[in-house]
Amino acid sequence: MKLLEERIKTDGVVHAGNILKVDKFLNHQMDISLFQEMGKEFKRLFADCEITKILTIESSGIGIACIAAQYFDVPVVFAKKTETRNIAGDVYTCKVKSFTYGKVYDIIVSKDFLTPEDKVLVIDDFLANGCAMLGLVQLIRDAGAELVGAGIAIEKGFQRGGDLLRGKGVRVESLAIVERMSEEDGVVFRNQE
Ligand code: 5GP
Repeated sequence: MKLLEERIKTDGVVHAGNILKVDKFLNHQMDISLFQEMGKEFKRLFADCEITKILTIESSGIGIACIAAQYFDVPVVFAKKTETRNIAGDVYTCKVKSFTYGKVYDIIVSKDFLTPEDKVLVIDDFLANGCAMLGLVQLIRDAGAELVGAGIAIEKGFQRGGDLLRGKGVRVESLAIVERMSEEDGVVFRNQE
């Protein structure tokens, strides 16, 4: 998606450790006009699918998922991150390793909000090693719901998450795929080459 790629070029900052900072428009300050265009693009990409729910993970996925949900006219459920060891109640839960912070945390979704009748589109801001996505996919499987696909804002194509998910047969649609990036040269997108 050209608009997003151009915005990453203008306002994205590459940090050490393969981190792309997009705080200016995506995951701290949020550009809602851009989110609307991203939502429309997700809708266009998944136009052939029946979707009853969007699932995301707190916190950066929530804004993108909520704006996208307006075009799908479905509810958004976000998986909560918790460090609590004993999770009580009727929840689906799974362990996820954080890319940005390196620690392991539990994600939970109430059984009330993910059911076997659901056809779920997963949306997130970044796809890196795929840990967050695989966790969400696991929760969907545990619920007996159907995974329709994954809509990603920014996929870091040089990390293994995309291959991992596609290898498992998950339909992954990414709005921008970073082929490589460095502090010196900035970001190069896959379709630019
Ligand atoms: P994964 O689980 O795919 O390794 O990482 C996905 C999660 O880590 C995303 O939800 C996102 O919050 C965070 N993340 C991964 N890579 C980056 C990055 O380059 N920049 C930022 N801002 N967040 C990232």
